[in-house]
Amino acid sequence: MNLTAQLHETAVKMASKPAYYFMDQATSYGELDVAVTKFADGLHKLGVSKGDHVALLLGNSPHFIIGMYGALETGATVIPVNPIYTPDEIGYILNNGDVKVVIALDLLVPLLEKMSPLLTSIEHMVICETGQDNSEENASRLSIYPKMKSFTELMKMGDSSFAGPNLDEDDTALILYTSGTTGKPKGAVLTHKNLYSNAKDVGDYLKISENDRVVTALPMFHVFCLTVVLNAPLINGGTLLIVPKFSPKEVFRLVKKYEATVFAGVPTMYNFLQQYPDGNPEDFKSLRLSISGGATMPVALLKEFEKKFNVFVSEGYGLSEASPVTCFNPLDRPRKPGSIGTNIKNVVNKVVNELGDEVPVGQVGELIVRGPNVMKGYYKMPEETAAVLKGGWLYTGDLARMDEEGYFYIVDRKKEMIIVGGYNVYPREVEEVLFAHPNIVEAAVIGIPDPNQGEVVQAFVVKKNDSLTEEELLAYCADHLAKYKVPQVIEFIGELPKNTTGKILRRSLKDQVLQK
Ligand code: AMP
Repeated sequence: MNLTAQLHETAVKMASKPAYYFMDQATSYGELDVAVTKFADGLHKLGVSKGDHVALLLGNSPHFIIGMYGALETGATVIPVNPIYTPDEIGYILNNGDVKVVIALDLLVPLLEKMSPLLTSIEHMVICETGQDNSEENASRLSIYPKMKSFTELMKMGDSSFAGPNLDEDDTALILYTSGTTGKPKGAVLTHKNLYSNAKDVGDYLKISENDRVVTALPMFHVFCLTVVLNAPLINGGTLLIVPKFSPKEVFRLVKKYEATVFAGVPTMYNFLQQYPDGNPEDFKSLRLSISGGATMPVALLKEFEKKFNVFVSEGYGLSEASPVTCFNPLDRPRKPGSIGTNIKNVVNKVVNELGDEVPVGQVGELIVRGPNVMKGYYKMPEETAAVLKGGWLYTGDLARMDEEGYFYIVDRKKEMIIVGGYNVYPREVEEVLFAHPNIVEAAVIGIPDPNQGEVVQAFVVKKNDSLTEEELLAYCADHLAKYKVPQVIEFIGELPKNTTGKILRRSLKDQVLQK
């Protein structure tokens, strides 16, 4: 089974059921299936066939779903790219990924046109009309530039009787360039089996069914959204409520109007929803499950959110290299705040020491993962692949511990551990303490060089109001943390730098400090 074959099957079983709502318009499974097949045929007529690479530079819209499923149907490999990346980042991925066709937002036409001479492998660009680009210049470019076709035009070229090639479970389906909070982005190569199995396994674990209406507010180009909030509901016949661009107002509106059953977000989104002044707990009463992942969910926020909105929040964990989910808090056993939960179906997580041996319960080590969801490797990077895929296990680079009931806890990224006078300090531990302070919105911690101790802790704090002083905060930290973990420097800032999936860019905070 693979994603497109499953979509055809669902479309036969429940043709008239809404697959998604976008801008309050419903599209049924039958309509989606026809659109995907026609688009696949359009791509095929452009010359796309099995093994070609198709990049998506799109926001959250039906174009993304039709573009991705359509390209997969032709046997092509899909490369989703964050459309707000800088030209350099986009150029790097399109070139490194040997992309033949780009499907992009019309707003990106000027940029793509300018970059065109540098993008040597690209043969065609398919431009999606968002209705937001009124520039006549772009419209005329579209018609005269031979490489560009509009999305609608391509659909019109397609036939709904198109049948793609046979797909093998080990054929490549996706290349995901990882968020790159450290180093150059690497393309994780995921197969049809990787993608389908993870959507199926996480869907089963979280009991996603045709009765679910799932708020799709996370960016679709990110694997958390792709698998958990897009593919898992679609393969189970659920309905997506597509949020074009995250805002608390739109989330509250959609949950209330369509009686959504599942919401998924990164911790930053939970923070925004929590702070939203018009957030009415009544509007959330239909939610059976709220999912958090992608970054550490501060325990204080999780508890406050559950209390305020009377919802159940389950935290999970994953990474692009594992399609992505490896752990989730279970629904039928206790949920543990601060934990990423237990192994999902078919996936094994283990905590190991430097030699790769499993460490005793409670001890910190590197989290390693095995299962049908683990990538083939990094695209064209054998050395980087060999460094993370060893003996059938994926080394995640995250430090974790496991409790006696098999629940895992992420301690921090291995690379972000701070060493103060020989003692290990995990930023997360200090951030949890800061987060629990009533006058703090959010906080991040890094290590800065120190002549005596090697490194000391510096905290960046976003405060709720001006009444909080540095002295008060230092005293508070001293009450809750061992002396060597107490931040030696506190900087109050307006907001923390984050990537689009809510990960705090500690590297950029470090650079700021070092440049001073
Ligand atoms: P990405 O490949 O962009 O999905 O990033 C994967 C990384 O996100 C992981 O290696 C972790 O460092 C981090 N991550 C994901 N989920 C969690 C979580 N629940 N808690 C802490 N870190 C997480």
